[in-house]
Amino acid sequence: MTSTRLLIVGPQGSGKGTQGARIAEAFGIPVVSTGDIFRANIKEGTDLGKQVKAITDAGDLVPDEITFAIVRERLEQPDAADGFLLDGFPRNVAQVALLDEFLGGRGDALDAVIELDVPREESLQRISLRAQSEGRSDDTEAAIAHRLDIYERETAPILAVYRTREVVDTIDGVGSLDEITARIIAALEARGLARDAAA
Ligand code: ADP
Repeated sequence: MTSTRLLIVGPQGSGKGTQGARIAEAFGIPVVSTGDIFRANIKEGTDLGKQVKAITDAGDLVPDEITFAIVRERLEQPDAADGFLLDGFPRNVAQVALLDEFLGGRGDALDAVIELDVPREESLQRISLRAQSEGRSDDTEAAIAHRLDIYERETAPILAVYRTREVVDTIDGVGSLDEITARIIAALEARGLARDAAA
């Protein structure tokens, strides 16, 4: 059995949630989305949810220790033993170090980092559409602008780290959903990563 450990990175509105779900399905691996985990906890009113609600609403980053604790717990589940697709973590260089330490301890590493490349104008348009349809409480104008700033200042630099490891595939994120999925799959297959026969 082969394992596929992926990370998808892109600015808000790049479509990384949608594409991440499609790629995970194609490769037969679970998506581990920190944003989804936080939103589920907020909805259920758990202690974690109460701790992070104001932070996520403002578009700030949840402290690294809290975020890493939930990621570690999720990655230790049996269904993630043979691969996973991370969406939303790591989001800064300190989180890369935490992930490296955890995966390194198991003798693992990320196989590929998918960078979804979308012009800022297009991603802003997509977010405002999403804000109308989904009503996410962090899709206010101020929180979106703040998250995009944090993306550029803290998240984009993680790509430089992964580039030195030659694991980054930069994918043109403009096009139809199917076209973009096909581009990502082609890039991953070019790395020798195999799709799930059953998917
Ligand atoms: P988006 O990519 O649209 O900003 P996400 O669903 O990835 O949305 O994340 C929503 C919010 O959850 C973030 O704005 C942040 O507050 C919190 N969050 C998600 N992932 C992380 C992370 N790795 N570190 C810190 N905070 C995070």
